[in-house]
Amino acid sequence: MVEIKASPDPAANAIPKVKAPQYAYIGGKVVPLEEAKVSVLTHAFNYGTGIFEGIRGYYSAENHQLYIFRLRDHFERMEQNCKLLKIRLPHSIDDLCRLTVRLAEMNQLRENIYIRPLAYKSAQRIGVRMNEENDFTLFMVPFGDYLSTDRALRVCVSSWRRLQDNAIPARGKICGAYVNSALAVAEAQDNGFDEAILLNEDGHVAEGSAMNLILVKRGHLVVPPKSDNILDGITRDTLTQIARQELEVETEVRSIDRTELYSADELFLCGTGVQIAPVGFVDHRRIGQGTSGPITRQLMRIYDEILHGRLGKYSYWLTHVY
Ligand code: PMP
Repeated sequence: MVEIKASPDPAANAIPKVKAPQYAYIGGKVVPLEEAKVSVLTHAFNYGTGIFEGIRGYYSAENHQLYIFRLRDHFERMEQNCKLLKIRLPHSIDDLCRLTVRLAEMNQLRENIYIRPLAYKSAQRIGVRMNEENDFTLFMVPFGDYLSTDRALRVCVSSWRRLQDNAIPARGKICGAYVNSALAVAEAQDNGFDEAILLNEDGHVAEGSAMNLILVKRGHLVVPPKSDNILDGITRDTLTQIARQELEVETEVRSIDRTELYSADELFLCGTGVQIAPVGFVDHRRIGQGTSGPITRQLMRIYDEILHGRLGKYSYWLTHVY
């Protein structure tokens, strides 16, 4: 079991009464958030050598409970990805889950939150070579919608290509890889779109800047294979499972051409941050009625029920904080 070491600041060891999150984990202990800092010399700060996760917690006022969604699955993915940078997580997956719950409890969060674990190369010296010095940090912030969910998005196909597996693996959730995402979303928004869809170097549809993409065609879902330079998303996995179990909608996994986006019946982006965001237009071409389609709406409704602990059948995906 991970031991939460006491901070030298006595105030930090008492459970705070205030609502704002105040504590983070870094260097093997819990510290006040404002003390969770890294040096400018840090390898990860200079070269992007970190692996992170994005996890959400949903507060149910009705049940006085904060539900963290698929916590263990996120840490399992993180552990896999850490191998890419030869980082060993400092604690077992069970202990990382317990640490997350404890930190949420200490922060007394009673609203929807976003949780960010980050394992990174912590050596403080110049030189890109990776060595054995690593650290792990965990923090959480209150978090609402990442993109508008009350209207369908206008997206474009980016002029930037998704990173190749043998350049910087997209499946890795590597900090530095998000420059690719930042370039794509910045370009899209500068051009008046909400989001970008990136193609891989083969010209096939990969994903959004920081989210997966699911297309609906003739009553079934179509998603790109994991080998098409995408992150193997936990939300996409969740949605394909509930589509089959709740709606009897099957998923076809195959490479998707750019022009199939234009002829989709429905299209949506999905991920922990974005949740489910219907797409109304791609490259100024209307998808379906330009609003969220019927399958998308049903998935949004069921997903929301699950996240807020209202669908008991899927309660094994939820970790309770209180
Ligand atoms: N692709 C990328 C590039 C992402 O950053 C994310 C967000 N983690 C996703 C897809 C969606 O993954 P998940 O559903 O596991 O959050």
